[in-house]
Amino acid sequence: MEKEKILGMTKKEIRAKSRIYARGFGKIKGKKGLQVIYPIFVERGFVKDVEDDESKYIELAKFVSKVPDKKNFYRSGDWLKLRYDVILKYGARCQCCGRDYKNNGVKINVDHIKPRHKYPELSLEFDNLQVLCEDCNLGKLNLDETDWR
Ligand SMILES: [Zn+2]
Repeated sequence: MEKEKILGMTKKEIRAKSRIYARGFGKIKGKKGLQVIYPIFVERGFVKDVEDDESKYIELAKFVSKVPDKKNFYRSGDWLKLRYDVILKYGARCQCCGRDYKNNGVKINVDHIKPRHKYPELSLEFDNLQVLCEDCNLGKLNLDETDWR
């Protein structure tokens, strides 16, 4: 049963990745296992008890398969390619205040509209990205989720 794969992952791998995700985003408080992750997944409409419900593994697998490794995320090829595509589509100009590097000397960031710490599965979603200058990006403090596009 444990060998059966869901989206190319064994249940063990799904659980392991879930734990990495939870630890990486600072939600674990001393316990082991999926229980400690529940608050996060419950928040997102997932279940209370994944271990007890076979079908919930599929949901969990879909979720974790979209979560990229946190380590060196902003240097990863997947991110850099996506970042470039976003700038190509929207231009290297802040979509909030309209300033750019050429005319205003502001540094341009590609920003996650829904922040990565709350929505890690949207880290590599084109539709979750916008171009902001550094000031606007720092100003939003990972709290605001306004879409400025
Ligand atoms: Zn701006």
